[in-house]
Amino acid sequence: MIYLDNNATTKPSEAVAQAVSIATATLFANPSSVHRPGQEARHAIELTRKELAALLGVPPKELTLTSTGTESIDLAIRGVLEANATNRGTGFQPVRPARSTTPTQLPNIITTPLEHPAVAKLLQHLARRGVVEPRLLPLDSRGMADPESLLDLLDANTILVSVQWANNETGVIQPIERFAELCRARSLPLHCDAVQWVGKMPMPAEGPPCDLLSFSPHKFHGPKGVGGLWVRRGVGLIPQTIGSQELARRGGTENVAGIIGAGVAAQEAAAWLADPARRAACAARRDRFERAILDRVPGAAINSHDSPRLWNTANIAFPTLEAEAMLMLLSERGLAASAGSACSSGSLEPSPILRAMGIPDRLAHGSIRFSLSKETTDAEIDQAIEIVVAAATQLGRSSAASL
Ligand code: PLP
Repeated sequence: MIYLDNNATTKPSEAVAQAVSIATATLFANPSSVHRPGQEARHAIELTRKELAALLGVPPKELTLTSTGTESIDLAIRGVLEANATNRGTGFQPVRPARSTTPTQLPNIITTPLEHPAVAKLLQHLARRGVVEPRLLPLDSRGMADPESLLDLLDANTILVSVQWANNETGVIQPIERFAELCRARSLPLHCDAVQWVGKMPMPAEGPPCDLLSFSPHKFHGPKGVGGLWVRRGVGLIPQTIGSQELARRGGTENVAGIIGAGVAAQEAAAWLADPARRAACAARRDRFERAILDRVPGAAINSHDSPRLWNTANIAFPTLEAEAMLMLLSERGLAASAGSACSSGSLEPSPILRAMGIPDRLAHGSIRFSLSKETTDAEIDQAIEIVVAAATQLGRSSAASL
């Protein structure tokens, strides 16, 4: 099976799988216990925190380990919301326009229409419960959120801006540095969903350009069951799972073996990222794949072709085909890919993200995401091209016959 579904999850590297397996057998003690085995587990977690913090370029003490990217995002958004509601504030002194605010007005969070369900559905849920008002930034012609529109949306009740760094379906990269500048000037905290960025793309030398950042090691060859949230010192955040672990920010006995595996993945990612030529080689592989499909499948088009994108993602529209049928045929022929986020596959609705980007339903219905990893080889790309071309031809024939 050729695996081109790396934005859904990646295969743990051999070193990661080995580290998890050894730690499962040996570091089983509870890291909160005072006895020696417990303290060995604690020590291993703290060493790993340093490795993960080094990948992000942040102080280890500011890093909270969670169970997934989704939990990190949940903690960031609910945690900041609650810090505001309890008058503890977010640690930010607002310097924004004091518009007509009354005590009954809801706090608002500014975000993009392109967010993963971990952000989008959480905000919809909180809006339905009447605790927050989500405000959506408009997109420009390339499907990128427009930072300058932030100024039209924010007011004295804005408590947080939450913007993804890179999109899971199209790989489109948001201008996070500009968002950061605008937020900093107005003392607004910026949360970044960096789940698709961390481990695939380098951090700026001065560290993340935001105040809170969520990431997920299973997206860069680490194990599932571990996530991370970095919170800049001074940002107010109320824990959402009460307990004494993780500097009292996130209760619950730590997934020691998973955390250790995540540390190994972070070290491997950092070593890989140190050489930009490797990323360029992977991007060239993805570009070759896209060009071959465009050349050989009539009507195929690359979604978000003109936007800055991650090196690994190709989202291709096959206008006359249904994505579900295409995915099943690709799988039968030995190629794993997906449509939309893994969470929305299984639904026949076109991806809300492609819709928000203005991609017509006709194209969105037949759009497939192929996501490469740093391990994807040229030979796999050659085979993948043949499989996609054959599947599109076969389905194209049968859809023409049924007309
Ligand atoms: N945010 C983005 C952009 C994602 O792609 C994903 C997962 O696909 C998540 C958040 C959720 O991460 P996790 O699967 O670790 O909960």
